[in-house]
Amino acid sequence: MEYLLHINGKWTGEALDKNPVLNPATGEIITKVPKGGRIEALQAVEAAHHAFEEWSGTTAYERAKLLKKYSNLIIDHEQELAELMTTEMGKPLSEAKGEVHYAANYIEWYSEQAKRIYGETIPTHDKNKRLQVWKKPIGVVAAITPWNFPAAMLTRKMGPALAAGCTVVIKPSKETPLTAIKLVELAEMAGFPNGVINIVTGSSKEIGEVFLTDPRVKKVTFTGSTEVGKTLMRQGADTVKKLSLELGGHAPMIILNDADLQKAVEGVTASKFRNSGQTCICGNRIYVQSAIYDQFIEVFADTVNQLRVGNGMETGIDVGPLINHAGVEKVNEHVLDAVKKGATVVVGGEQPEEKGNFYKPTIIKDANPDMLIMREETFGPVAPIQKFETIEEVVKLANDTPFGLAAYVFTENVSHGTRVIEKLDYGVVGWNDGTPSAVQAPFGGMKESGLGREGGHQGIEDFLETQYVSIGI
Ligand code: NAP
Repeated sequence: MEYLLHINGKWTGEALDKNPVLNPATGEIITKVPKGGRIEALQAVEAAHHAFEEWSGTTAYERAKLLKKYSNLIIDHEQELAELMTTEMGKPLSEAKGEVHYAANYIEWYSEQAKRIYGETIPTHDKNKRLQVWKKPIGVVAAITPWNFPAAMLTRKMGPALAAGCTVVIKPSKETPLTAIKLVELAEMAGFPNGVINIVTGSSKEIGEVFLTDPRVKKVTFTGSTEVGKTLMRQGADTVKKLSLELGGHAPMIILNDADLQKAVEGVTASKFRNSGQTCICGNRIYVQSAIYDQFIEVFADTVNQLRVGNGMETGIDVGPLINHAGVEKVNEHVLDAVKKGATVVVGGEQPEEKGNFYKPTIIKDANPDMLIMREETFGPVAPIQKFETIEEVVKLANDTPFGLAAYVFTENVSHGTRVIEKLDYGVVGWNDGTPSAVQAPFGGMKESGLGREGGHQGIEDFLETQYVSIGI
């Protein structure tokens, strides 16, 4: 298959310069994709703008039917999509298959939610007036997505946007454009009209600038780093662009003395090593209360020692490569800094022999807040552990960061769990649960981790305008 731009129902961009897409497990070039820029972004925005009138005029039932068909097509192409994802992103094939289902579920859930976009009737203060609230699709939506969940981060935006009656222009990450292009091809097969879904690969700077400054784009929905999110906010100021930002995290995982140890180890392992630690909600700092500190590390180390590192296309692999060499360098820097500042490596702590972009699943103990790894998002398979004594102390440590995306608490004591979680400034909390994401639940961050929520009934609100209508009768 040739991977091209999709603008107004046409596959295009053959004549443009091309960017290579690399397999992070082997370093090989998989294929090349067109290097679109300002011109192609403007064409895509024009197509989406033109298509909006007709698409927004369809009934919720018509949109629901198409979305449902689209979701089924994604499931039908599970194997192909998962292989593509593993090849360009590196995650083990079983995880990639899981993501394909998760991605399809967003489309399916919002196919149903399309039928539940309700307005309101407000009791009137005047016998000759009727007060109503109408909901309208916001308009053209630009979606910018990251590489770590190339399918789900896209459908989490497309699902509600299309269900609401918006048209979409997409810019995927340069690291993982193939999964996104394949998803657009499947949308075309489902029968979405020309211009409703468009995709442009290429220069993020040029394409992003068009998305953030063109007045025809009514909303930009972005998932990625906090740094880029802040740039987009500044760029969007002149057109007062409506923004949803799903940004970086630095998740604390708190294990209290009264935790079920096995549950805690399973939860921390799932959160920390899924996707090689490259998820925005993965545990970045692990705080274990003093009475179970040594025991937790022992059981955790036994579990982590069994994880198999390698090319995600091979069977039995738990931890694939990091996305690129810069990712490996950051992990190395965090580990070396921690060791220099007094931490001890319990498991891993280096690259395996076949170097490439791989890093061994790692546990570090006796971490402290001065270490880089306890202050910044690591985005790699390293679990630093710090000991604490009291609940008050750990809540302070957990909240001492500009990030506020996900946090985790492990305790069997309802009072302790409730008291800790009430004090945590985090948008998503897993209580005895290392994998809290669900399509039907609101996902998003507090503080510098973002604006808005994706998923759940809340997730469609960002794609709707509220119009208050006062009717004199
Ligand atoms: P990133 O570097 O911020 O890139 C994200 C997307 O933004 C990519 O498509 C990228 O394109 C594009 N981009 C980069 N610079 C841009 C600019 N100046 N204007 C417009 N677009 C621009 O993040 P990433 O490395 O792909 O993803 C990892 C980050 O995403 C982590 O911080 C992670 O925590 C966060 N994340 C958050 C969530 C959440 O739901 N909160 C979910 C997943 C990931 P190019 O790649 O083509 O440059």
